[in-house]
Amino acid sequence: MLNTSLLPKSFALNCPECETGSLHDGHLLCPSCGFAVERDGRIAVLEHAPVEADYSEEGAGVQNEVKESHFWFCMRNLFILQILGDEVARPDSGHRCVEYGCSNGLVMAELERAGWTVLGTDMHLSGLRNAAGVVNGPLVCAPLERVGFSDPVDLVCFFDVIEHLPDDLSALRKAVAQLKEGGHIVVTVPAFQSLWSTFDVLLGHKRRYTVADLSRLFEELGLETVRLRYAFSFSFPLVWIQRRLIRDVSASEQRRAYYRPPHPVINMILKVLCRFELRLASFGIDLPFGTSVMALARKPIQPT
Ligand SMILES: [Zn+2]
Repeated sequence: MLNTSLLPKSFALNCPECETGSLHDGHLLCPSCGFAVERDGRIAVLEHAPVEADYSEEGAGVQNEVKESHFWFCMRNLFILQILGDEVARPDSGHRCVEYGCSNGLVMAELERAGWTVLGTDMHLSGLRNAAGVVNGPLVCAPLERVGFSDPVDLVCFFDVIEHLPDDLSALRKAVAQLKEGGHIVVTVPAFQSLWSTFDVLLGHKRRYTVADLSRLFEELGLETVRLRYAFSFSFPLVWIQRRLIRDVSASEQRRAYYRPPHPVINMILKVLCRFELRLASFGIDLPFGTSVMALARKPIQPT
């Protein structure tokens, strides 16, 4: 079913200019200050970023091409559904989710298949235009500090986003403010500073994380950690070697190398190993290393 709504009332936004007006279908002009939501296809545009050196428009395109085959994109979705667990992965009807930095909508589409009503936001139009073809939910183009909802939501998501932000803590704080008490936040990030390479520089990363870093962030935000683990444990050695071998090639070739699926045989072996890792995790066995950190936390219910 094709969704023709730009901004449904259930996801009404606070006006990013005056923060008093409420913006949704039928009210795309702020009654208080006159701020107007622009439309790009079915994307609601509050503000969009210029093409910046630290974000790859080319990356969004390449990512979109390889999403079906590259083990990392396929398996990340499975790891995300697993970290959400049965309780969060299968929402009650009417439960709403916001994905910050949804880009091409690869994970957003998966969350929709799992039954979530999702709104995706991103500050870059190129990824959102790809997302518009694969997701049903509303899409908002804006930097995350400009996105605030009239009604708090049940789940907020950051899939490989906060490592790009200069101030990850304040971004998370803003997102947690959009969350209902008892609601969840799920975060994935690249792991281990020891895997830092020119890829991270090219992708505009500011840092990589350990599970302890995520645990500290959640603590500072007053959240209860529900699950916290490394993922892509078996590709860790391969990535470690690869990052040291591909040093002397051009920047654009490095970027392509990052998104290109590995040799089909290696790609298949890595998929099998990821499935084995999922199996281990389902028995509660987590390995103490990986190339990503996956984290789920809950906003506590305040006693009245
Ligand atoms: Zn306004």
